Amino acid sequence: MKIGQVKNRNSHKVDSRVLGNYSKGIAGPLLVCFCGIHGNEPSGVVAFKRVLQTLKNDEYPIHGRLVGLAGNLSALKAHQRFIDKDMNRIWTHKRMQEIEFGTVEIECSEDNEQLELLEELNQLLTELNNEPFFIDLHTTSSESQPYISINDTLRNRRLAMNFPLPIVLGLEEFLEGTILSYINELGHVALGFEAGQHDNPASITNHEAIIWLSLHNCGCLHHDLPEPMVEHSYGVLAKTIVEGKKVFELRHRHPIESADQFKMKPGYVNFQQIKKNEQLAKDQDGVIKAKESGRIFMPLYQSQGDDGFFIVRNIKKFWLTISAILRVTQFHRFLHLLPGVGKYNQLNHTLAVNTFWARWYVVDFFHLMGFRKKQIIGKRMIFTKREYDIRRP
Ligand SMILES: [Zn+2]
Repeated sequence: MKIGQVKNRNSHKVDSRVLGNYSKGIAGPLLVCFCGIHGNEPSGVVAFKRVLQTLKNDEYPIHGRLVGLAGNLSALKAHQRFIDKDMNRIWTHKRMQEIEFGTVEIECSEDNEQLELLEELNQLLTELNNEPFFIDLHTTSSESQPYISINDTLRNRRLAMNFPLPIVLGLEEFLEGTILSYINELGHVALGFEAGQHDNPASITNHEAIIWLSLHNCGCLHHDLPEPMVEHSYGVLAKTIVEGKKVFELRHRHPIESADQFKMKPGYVNFQQIKKNEQLAKDQDGVIKAKESGRIFMPLYQSQGDDGFFIVRNIKKFWLTISAILRVTQFHRFLHLLPGVGKYNQLNHTLAVNTFWARWYVVDFFHLMGFRKKQIIGKRMIFTKREYDIRRP
C-alpha cells in the first residue's frame, strides 16, 4: 500500500453531515462544497477540512459563506463507493417530487443519507441572501488529470471557464439523477470536479486548490488584494493540464450491469486518444470496441459502478461561441417552425423531432442551443431545454 493511501484512510473520519461552516458576517455569495458523495472518495473531505483550518487560523475576511457537506457518511466510513445504491444517481425529478409530497419510499442506506443531506441543503437555501454556488468534489478509479464537468448551461460554462482546467459538457444526457442536475434544476450554478485518482495524495492538493479558486471565482475573496492562496492554487491546477484548456463533450456511454462481467482493458488513462473499433474492454458477450474515435473517459477500474467507460470529443472554440450566440438570442423559439420539429405535449422547453425529416446532426444541432436528448419515442427524439441556461430563476 502506498503512503498516500494510509494517510487518506486515517484522515477522513467524518461523523457529521456539516463538515464546516465559515463566515465573517460580511455579505456575499454562498459556496457549498459536496464532499464524499461517493464513500471511496474521501479526498474532498480532507481538503475541505484543510481549507477551513487555514481560513480559521488566518481569520480570512471572506465575503459570504463557505459550507462543506458530507455526502454519503455510511459509505465514507466503509470506504466504499456506496452501501446499497449510488448516491449520485438518486436525485431524479420524479424522486425529488416524491420527497416533496412525502410519498417517497425509504428502503436503504442512501435513501436516508439523501434526506439528511437535503435537509441541510434546504436550510441553507432558506437562509439565502445572495447567489449560491455549488461544487461537487470527486476522484476517479483510474489515474486522471483533474477536470471540471458541468451540465451545459451558459451560466455553468461562464464559471467553469475561469478555472485553468479541461471541461467536460453533457454528462446529464447520459447520467440520470446526479446531485448537480438537481441543483441546476433549482436554478443554481454548479460544477463537478474530479481531482485525480482516489488514493493519490495529489488529489487532496487539487481539491484544496479548487476550493480556494472557487472562493475567488464566486466572489467570496477580495478581488483587489493579491491573494497568495489563489495564485498558488491556480498554479497547482494549471500544472496538471496535459494539452491545454480544452472543452469536451460526451458522445457515448457504455452502461454495464454486474451480470455482464465487464472488464476494462488495463492501462487506459482518462482522456487518452482512441481510434474507432479499438478494443477497449470485454464482457461475457466478447470484445467491446470503440464506436467512434475520440478519447476514453472515466474507464472503470473498480468493482462498483454502472458506467464501463465513456467516449468524449473536443469541441472547437468556434462552436462554443456559436452556441452562446444562439442561446443568448433565444433562437430556440423558432425551432418548432422547422420541418419535422414540433412542441411536445405543449410543454415549455420540450420539442419532438421527427428523425425522418431531420436526420443529420440533429443531436449536435440541439446541443448547441442547450437542449438535451431525453428519450426516443418511435421515430421521434424528445429534447428538453435546460430552464435556467442564461439567467437565474
Ligand atoms: Zn465520484
